[in-house]
Amino acid sequence: MSLAEIKSRISNAETKAGRALGSVDLIAVSKVQPNERVEAVLSEGQRIFGENRVQEAAGKWPDFRTQFDGIQLHIIGPLQTNKARQAMELAECIHSVDRPKLATTLARLAQEIGQCPDLFIQVNTGAEAQKAGILPQDADSFVAECRSLDLPVKGLMCIPPVEEEAALHFALLAKIAKRNDLSGLSMGMSGDFEKAIAFGATHVRVGSAIFGARDYS
Ligand SMILES: *Cc1c(COP(=O)(O)O)cnc(C)c1O
Repeated sequence: MSLAEIKSRISNAETKAGRALGSVDLIAVSKVQPNERVEAVLSEGQRIFGENRVQEAAGKWPDFRTQFDGIQLHIIGPLQTNKARQAMELAECIHSVDRPKLATTLARLAQEIGQCPDLFIQVNTGAEAQKAGILPQDADSFVAECRSLDLPVKGLMCIPPVEEEAALHFALLAKIAKRNDLSGLSMGMSGDFEKAIAFGATHVRVGSAIFGARDYS
């Protein structure tokens, strides 16, 4: 599917949900994609991109930034504390703040560096053992803890379990965000971004629908 098609589907979903046009940011998830595909999407005007590995992001985005203005890079994958500094220096936004130790590390580094990317707290809405994220019942206290550390928390992020109806998870994330006065909702991927927009997503993370399937071979 083309970038233009995805953007028009987003506009339609915004309208259908009674939301303002442009209220949803499209994050083009470029992980594992060959540089030519990423460059093509940059040339079409897309400027917000997502990567889930710091190492991979560091290998390509500094170069792209020298070629294209106004790039915004979002780290959307699990973040080890020993990669936190690099992530903060590379990215405008981190979507995967998922544990107290990472929060205190980010806070310490933010003091040291003098700035901090926008942050989203990842919530493990399906309470899946293998998935990162704070459990729903711990989310309120974790938001409070991050705020007490002066971290710029903009919203919440989730990745619904593959086997379950995503709408339930989008609704739960929206509810937790609302009671914590958070306006950002990072939810929705290639298969369900329109549904996420109906539930209030402000950031959709779309990879394969824009770039084609990822080739891990
Ligand atoms: C890869 C990835 C996406 C994009 O997935 P697609 O199904 O290709 O759209 C979104 N969010 C996260 C956290 C990812 O790792």
